[in-house]
Amino acid sequence: MNQNDAFDAGRRKWLKTGATVAALGAVAATGLFAPRAVRAEEKASKDTMMYQPTPHGKETCANCIHYIPGKNPKADGTCNVVAGAVAPQAWCVAYAAKG
Ligand code: SF4
Repeated sequence: MNQNDAFDAGRRKWLKTGATVAALGAVAATGLFAPRAVRAEEKASKDTMMYQPTPHGKETCANCIHYIPGKNPKADGTCNVVAGAVAPQAWCVAYAAKG
């Protein structure tokens, strides 16, 4: 192997690596690697889940495992199931009690 052969082999390896990195970047740009729970478009609508702004007996969003609290206990939070802002005193059919 002469010096030109070694240079060509190194250049081919570098080009393959570059192509792989570019392909991974293109896939990442599609959002396929985004965490599933964070993708709002996959959440159910409030209508579908029969969301109501009031409690269902003692069941409220604030004591549901799907609830993500807001900035303070009275502020709206979010939900892993239902799209949009969710009030802590609200409820829907996907309710599941915490522990
Ligand atoms: S699943 Fe329903 S009850 Fe539970 S936090 Fe989300 S909206 Fe509220």
